[in-house]
Amino acid sequence: MDSGRSNPEVPHSLTVSLKVRRLAPSRMEAQLVCPECGAPLNLSQPDEEFPTDLLATCGPCRRWYVLGEPNESGEVLLLELPGISEIDEMMRGPVLAKPPRKGRARDRHSS
Ligand SMILES: [Zn+2]
Repeated sequence: MDSGRSNPEVPHSLTVSLKVRRLAPSRMEAQLVCPECGAPLNLSQPDEEFPTDLLATCGPCRRWYVLGEPNESGEVLLLELPGISEIDEMMRGPVLAKPPRKGRARDRHSS
């Protein structure tokens, strides 16, 4: 077994912060707009068996959102997916952006 470095399909664990919004029922009746840029969202239904699970995409800013099933008060969660290019950057970031720290932690105790 090697470390998996040579296999690009080995899963990576990344910590990302996700943006989730709660949409009031009234927001679902009007046309949904992108919370970031205000453009109308394109909705698609990836699975006919789950008609309330929708994928929303924004053309202008190319963000993707997942819409959940309405809860008992009719609110819907809108989850913004991290962009694939951001993820790609995160995955190569530590390798390309900065060389490993150069003993900066040493002067921590200099009081
Ligand atoms: Zn947008």
